[in-house]
Amino acid sequence: MSEQNEVREIRINPIVPSESVLVATARSMRPKKAEELAPRDTRKHVETCPFCRGNEHKTPPVILSWPPEGDWQIRMVENLYPVLGDDREQANFNFGLQQTIDGYGRHEVIIDHHEHGIAVHEMSESHLAALFGVYQTRMRQLFESDERLKYVLIFKNFGPAAGASIPHTHSQVIAMPVVPENVEAEVRNSAMHFAKHHHCIFCALIDEALTFEATIYDRASGAVRRKINVGQYVVERGEKFIAIKPFASRYEWEVHILPLQHQADFLDVRGEDLADLARVMKRTMARLDAVIGGAQYNFFLHSVPHDAQRAAHAPSYHWHLEICPRTSIPTGFELGSGLFVNTINPEQAAEKLRAVEL
Ligand SMILES: [Zn+2]
Ligand SMILES: [Zn+2]
Ligand SMILES: [Zn+2]
Repeated sequence: MSEQNEVREIRINPIVPSESVLVATARSMRPKKAEELAPRDTRKHVETCPFCRGNEHKTPPVILSWPPEGDWQIRMVENLYPVLGDDREQANFNFGLQQTIDGYGRHEVIIDHHEHGIAVHEMSESHLAALFGVYQTRMRQLFESDERLKYVLIFKNFGPAAGASIPHTHSQVIAMPVVPENVEAEVRNSAMHFAKHHHCIFCALIDEALTFEATIYDRASGAVRRKINVGQYVVERGEKFIAIKPFASRYEWEVHILPLQHQADFLDVRGEDLADLARVMKRTMARLDAVIGGAQYNFFLHSVPHDAQRAAHAPSYHWHLEICPRTSIPTGFELGSGLFVNTINPEQAAEKLRAVEL
């Protein structure tokens, strides 16, 4: 694909059809935020930062550090301003249409690296593998600590454009008594797909990305309407993991990382495979950073919920990491319609990401 044809179409998310995206490449569709993005903090050490080495006394109590002995590389602490808190023995509240569920849960912070402003693609592969290992360890501990916890969301906000309030690189862990609606929708719809087709829809998407090829012609004029090339959605491929540009990407530079072999639970990734995950992650983030010119993003981990149906959903759900770089601000149209607007053709975005020389 050399020339970008103007695209204006609504793309239906194959997993959650209610989440559709308007791909409209006409330039003026949306205010670009890139110019006014506050630059991220790239300093290595900041004397006053509570997350920097030497300021350990300024953080809430430590939960775990890695490595356990000597200078820490990764450090996990309680959140000073948790959105979900500890047991308050507060009953669920129901009054007319006002219903609440007790805000019970955990909210913790993982200081990803001792270097203040380091970006993910600048971390070593072994460090990233250790970070994914810390995610697993804490997820497992939380699930084992309390059976009321149904979901552990691990996410990262990087850069002011992504809502990071503390500039020191960090991820967050929120353990909650409910399954978030977007995960629930993925779980429900992939289970429906499985019941009908007897295969995992995420596995099918990976297969399509790796093998699908088609040319679709206009019946009347005979002109090529759409051409799908093998691998055109693949951004990065490792031995065990793959990074894919979703066909119905909500964000211009959105990329998802998934295990190539079916796996529902992030906790099931074997220790020796974390290195490949780290490599795919590092290379993907380096591509994004090069193309966007300093990526500010959110990423979050979607894994099978640990609720009563966990085993039933294991064949149909497939864990993944969604990386959503923030390059523009949602407009009234998006907020009012719930329809995401993407101004870059996802096929072309994938091509640009692949073209980066690493
Ligand atoms: Zn710092
Ligand atoms: Zn699968
Ligand atoms: Zn997801």
